[in-house]
Amino acid sequence: MTTNNCKSIRYRGRFAPSPTGPLHFGSLVAAMGSYLEAKAHGGEWLVRIENVDTPREVSGASSDILRTLEYLGMKWDGEVVYQSQRSALYQEAIHSLTKLNLVYRCVCTRKEILDSSIMGNIGPIYPSTCRHAQISQKNSALRIQTNDKPIWFEDIIQGRVEQHLESDTGDFVMRRADGIFAYQLAVVVDDAEQKVTHVVRGEDLLDSTPRQIYLQQLLGYPVPDYMHLPVATNRDGKKLSKQTRAAPVDRTKAVPQLFAASRFLGQTPPNELLKSDLSVFWQWALENWQAKQIPQCNRDFIDGSTQEK
Ligand SMILES: [Zn+2]
Repeated sequence: MTTNNCKSIRYRGRFAPSPTGPLHFGSLVAAMGSYLEAKAHGGEWLVRIENVDTPREVSGASSDILRTLEYLGMKWDGEVVYQSQRSALYQEAIHSLTKLNLVYRCVCTRKEILDSSIMGNIGPIYPSTCRHAQISQKNSALRIQTNDKPIWFEDIIQGRVEQHLESDTGDFVMRRADGIFAYQLAVVVDDAEQKVTHVVRGEDLLDSTPRQIYLQQLLGYPVPDYMHLPVATNRDGKKLSKQTRAAPVDRTKAVPQLFAASRFLGQTPPNELLKSDLSVFWQWALENWQAKQIPQCNRDFIDGSTQEK
């Protein structure tokens, strides 16, 4: 059997939406950035539905997001992966971390944590209350012990990011008391299991990357390259999301919305493209993709359109 060395180092990116509502301009930007980066590198682009938090999932949202991607002409490689079907993999990772003596049970309530912790830049810093408490209660959360060694990475757009987890976030949750696996754990297991080499996503996740790298180091996983894209905001400066009532992508206006997303990412599509069909748009977008033109943040676009001055 001959082995193909190129295959193992091939670029593999992904788009990982949470099915809490339809695709909106903000998620379209993340989809487009990850898609074009993957395709410009001759790589693969996977789609993973991040529905690990099943109670937050909105019925029908996953299929709606996938249908919108199809309407927009964005074809993914391989099968779509659903986090809700991967509990065994997450449990296995917790088992590995438990063997390192780094996982402990925590029975603190949200209120207790807020009352007892200092507020850091990222959120409340868990003060390790239960770290040595020897709790045996079954329906407790599982936390991972952190330390203060610096964890840093060089983001392709945002530059160097460094955190000391113990003082920046504190020990963080791996599995909630209701049995739901934490996003931080699921995303790390999935990226490793799917052999993702490059993570391209919104800048709102920049702060959680050091926690993910910490888990990758403990689990012996490779650390992918990270590119955090600017996040689209509404008039109040809040990230577009279901909670901020972001408008869904209008499938009947595919090209104008792709055009706006492309502009948001610092690309310069010519106005004629607005009247073109999808295949012409994508051909232009791929041939002219310049990742180095992506801004670190972008406040000129509000709700996906250029801000009126
Ligand atoms: Zn606790």
